[in-house]
This record gives sequence, C-alpha cells and structure tokens, in this order.
Amino acid sequence: MAGLLFVVAAASGTGKTSLVKALLERTADLKLSISHTTRPIRPGEIDGVHYHFTPKERFVEMIGDGYFVEHAEVFGNYYGTSHTGITTQLEQGQDVLLEIDWQGAAQVRKIFPNSMQIFIVPPSIEALRERLSNRGQDSAEVIQTRLNGAVEEIRQHVNFDYLVVNDVFEDALIDLQSIIRAARLTEIQQSAKQQNLLMGLLNR
Ligand code: 5GP
Repeated sequence: MAGLLFVVAAASGTGKTSLVKALLERTADLKLSISHTTRPIRPGEIDGVHYHFTPKERFVEMIGDGYFVEHAEVFGNYYGTSHTGITTQLEQGQDVLLEIDWQGAAQVRKIFPNSMQIFIVPPSIEALRERLSNRGQDSAEVIQTRLNGAVEEIRQHVNFDYLVVNDVFEDALIDLQSIIRAARLTEIQQSAKQQNLLMGLLNR
C-alpha cells in the first residue's frame, strides 16, 4: 500500500520549521523529504541533512532534466523536491512530509491529488511582526516588507485542506499530530494494515 503524503506550508515567521521538527521527533514512520536549494548554507546546517545545497547552474540543469516534482523561487533562491525524494518512498509504503512553500504545494497537489495539505497561520499580525523582528537585526522597513509578503502568503490558505493556528506551540503540535493520526486511521489504510486482524475477526 502506498504511503501517505503530507505537505506543510506557512507564511514566513509562522514557526513552521520548529513545529515540523517537533512533529518528526514525536511521530513514528514519518519521513521528511530533503529539498534541494540554491541558497547559501547557514551556520549549523549540514549538506544532505537540512538541504541538498546545489549551485544555481546545476539546479537549472536539473529542472531541464525533469528531476523535480515541484520547484519554486522563494526570496530569490530556488527550492525543489526531487522525484527520488518522494515517489520511491511513497511506493515503498513510507509516509512522507514535505515542508515547502505554497507555490510548491500547489504543484504537488496537481501530481498527488490525495496529498494532505496543511497550512499554518500565526495567531495575529502583532505576533508575526514580533517573530519577524526577533529573527535578526532587520530594519523596520525590511520587517514591514516581509510582513506584507507574509500577508500575501496567508491569502493562500484557501487552497489547503487543514488550517493550524500556531498560537500555543504545544497545541499546534497536537493539531498536526492529530491530522496525521486521523489520516492513518481511515478504513482504506486500516484495512490494509489490519488485514490479519480483520481476517481473524471475520473467519469464524
Ligand atoms: P529557508 O531558506 O528559510 O529554509 O526556506 C525558505 C522557504 O522555502 C520556506 O517557506 C520553505 O518551506 C520553502 N522550501 C523549502 N524547501 C522547499 C522545496 O523543496 N520546494 C518549495 N517550493 N519550497 C521549499
């Protein structure tokens, strides 16, 4: 039975990365697809663990070779999910999670209409402004530009299946866990996983 595909997207500054990290730590048998990106490596990041860091020329070649399921330009850098990253895993019955932007989520929806798409929103504009300002030493002008960009991104919520509000971290995490848990409990999933039990219950 093919694995389930979950897509998590959010406006920048929403706390998506921390939530996804905690979700993966707490959820068995859920694998994060490692994206390719052309953006420079940040301190503490490891090539092949956080991203496959790829030179721009190579990334463009890979687009031409049809290497990516989806790719998008985010903040001036390219990001993409490879076929090998997800298709092979899903075929092997592995549940996969993609942490990508809304443009990528829309492309994934077309190829995998059964993917479960989750959008995370902040509890208020003030909270978003505060998170964006706490990130670094950006000027008030840069923060305002990012905030405007984030509001545009939030408009995309209508294209998702689930909406999670990241107000209290632990609550948002439980919401994410619940979505995954419920998806794994559908009859179609369970009848495959619980084949022996069902046979035993029915053959008497
Ligand atoms: P960052 O550079 O801060 O790690 O990520 C910037 C944005 O790019 C985030 O919204 C992140 O989810 C998104 N992103 C990361 N990987 C991918 C990918 O493979 N495809 C797309 N479309 N977006 C991605």
